[in-house]
Amino acid sequence: MSVNPVPTIGTARRRVSILGSTGSIGCNTLDLIGRNRDSYDVVALTAQTNVKALADQAKEFDAELAVIGDETRLGDLQDALASTGIECAAGRSALEDAGARPADWVMAAIVGTAGLSPTLQAVRQGAHVALANKECLVSAGNIFLAEVAASGATLLPADSEHNAIFQVLDPAKLESVDKIILTASGGPFLGTSIEDMRKATPAQAVAHPQWSMGAKISVDSATLMNKGLELIEAHYLFPVGREKLDVVIHPQSIIHSMVAYNDGSVLAQLGSPDMRTPISYTLAWPERMETPADRLNLAEIGQLTFENPDLERFPALALAAEALRLDNGSATVMNAANEIAVAAFLSERIGFLDISALAADILEDFAAREGRASFTTLDDVLDLDDLGRQKAQEWVQKRAS
Ligand code: NAD
Ligand code: MG
Repeated sequence: MSVNPVPTIGTARRRVSILGSTGSIGCNTLDLIGRNRDSYDVVALTAQTNVKALADQAKEFDAELAVIGDETRLGDLQDALASTGIECAAGRSALEDAGARPADWVMAAIVGTAGLSPTLQAVRQGAHVALANKECLVSAGNIFLAEVAASGATLLPADSEHNAIFQVLDPAKLESVDKIILTASGGPFLGTSIEDMRKATPAQAVAHPQWSMGAKISVDSATLMNKGLELIEAHYLFPVGREKLDVVIHPQSIIHSMVAYNDGSVLAQLGSPDMRTPISYTLAWPERMETPADRLNLAEIGQLTFENPDLERFPALALAAEALRLDNGSATVMNAANEIAVAAFLSERIGFLDISALAADILEDFAAREGRASFTTLDDVLDLDDLGRQKAQEWVQKRAS
């Protein structure tokens, strides 16, 4: 990972933008900025549909630019920001412009592959990019990293597991790493039987026991697809070799991930499950900043427990590991198919177990028929993403009819 000098807190104000500012990560990021107003100027904020939340944030933080993805809502946004002097824009290309607007630090917190092009714009301007949107790396992998290398941008992992690894991995000593161990809470269905999971409702699936997050990642956590996507994300962020990546279930979500070295040492980052801790580490990097996250009281917690993931009840994790092993565009197709499957589950068109069944069918079909897909340009990524979506829509239509 490249490291560029940046103004540190206390010596200069940082210009920051947040792509996906109205979501769970976006709001947590603004919460931290609100507590440190002397250190940050807000440049661009974006949302897809929630005009009121976006306009309120833009006014509160005196943003330069507010962008709404849904073009039909531009008028509402302009009305809400009339006579504030805050620029308004709408649509896909305006989201990209928000990513391209000069900033020192950009939080990539749009959910799904929709975040790829705006995040790439932030990368191309050479900013420090705090990456919450794991789908960017899962979908575009080496193509995304090549853009980072070409522009000299700095990636700062914001996903809690990857942020934990970022904190304890010495990038100069990758050859001493035995294993990178991602922890997983196991989600709301850790102890649930297959029969009960078959009947699981969207409300049950998004009720995560430890973390409060957006709907898509909450469902991904319930299927363990989230951990699968994180394995792929870890492969691109920390190049130790995919066979050295491992997952352990840790229901308390206190250890956020670990690195095992070849002398027998295991280094871990611990903390209460509050995304403001990893976000703060990217926002203040290379310094630290104070956050209101609950301080750990290990004696009160008493026990930290661990178990191996059950790949029969949670096949999505094994599917993602297989997509990573295949390294032929399978991860792009699977990721796109999963987005469609999660949306179909949330709108009650398919059942909970159908999410992994759909991803398995589409991955198998792709691996069998396409062989090694051409996968070298961003257009290849977008084509494979379209293919995954189209196949998944057909799957959902068949199941729902
Ligand atoms: P969320 O659903 O709460 O928020 C998503 C944000 O993206 C919102 O601002 C929304 O307006 C915007 N958005 C949605 N669809 C869009 C589209 N098509 N085009 C442009 N903008 C769109 O999601 P979240 O939980 O904040 O997660 C955001 C990203 O961060 C995801 O990739 C997720 O995997 C990752 N992440 C989240 C957490 C967490 O604790 N929430 C932790 C780790 C990683
Ligand atoms: Mg995570």
